Amino acid sequence: MPDDLSKAHRIEQIASTIAACRSCQLCESRKNPVPGDGDCNAKLVIVGEGPGAWEDEQGKPFVGRSGKLLDQIIEKHGELKRSEIFITNVVKCRPPGNRTPLPDEIKMCKDHLVAQLNTIRPRAILCMGSTAAQTLSGQTASLTRLRGRNLSGLNPAIIATFHPSYGLRMGESVVKLMESDFVLACSIALGA
Ligand code: SF4
Repeated sequence: MPDDLSKAHRIEQIASTIAACRSCQLCESRKNPVPGDGDCNAKLVIVGEGPGAWEDEQGKPFVGRSGKLLDQIIEKHGELKRSEIFITNVVKCRPPGNRTPLPDEIKMCKDHLVAQLNTIRPRAILCMGSTAAQTLSGQTASLTRLRGRNLSGLNPAIIATFHPSYGLRMGESVVKLMESDFVLACSIALGA
């Protein structure tokens, strides 16, 4: 079987596993699991914190206001189309009231994320928000300290940036930093 077909099949299998998952309490209140979507051969994977209300309704990542800001950043810089990126979250079910996922929830859900990353094997991972940045880098510093550089030094590169919801709250100065981090992640992903 060609590699890209087997990768697509594996990503579908992981989504099915997530749909059936009841490993943490977040399954009790979710409307839909949100495994993530995009290109199973993506050179860049974007990882957020967890699904919000719109994502929970639709079962898709980054489709609400935060998703619109992410789309704007992707379209403005044009290195990659959204369809060429795989987009997911640290936890695949919505935390009630959009609270931060609890450490146990992150721990239980991390296997799904690792399985996705091991299947896609991107060159770069852009972590949006401190939950994603700290989970994937293993570092506990604030996002202000973590952002703007490669945190892994290995393949894949791990780049941290602010979550779009923070960009929406804080305005243009934060969005410009997010754009700069996105360009860095794309340049590493594309080998520029
Ligand atoms: S958040 Fe993750 S670990 Fe918890 S039920 Fe959903 S898929 Fe399973």
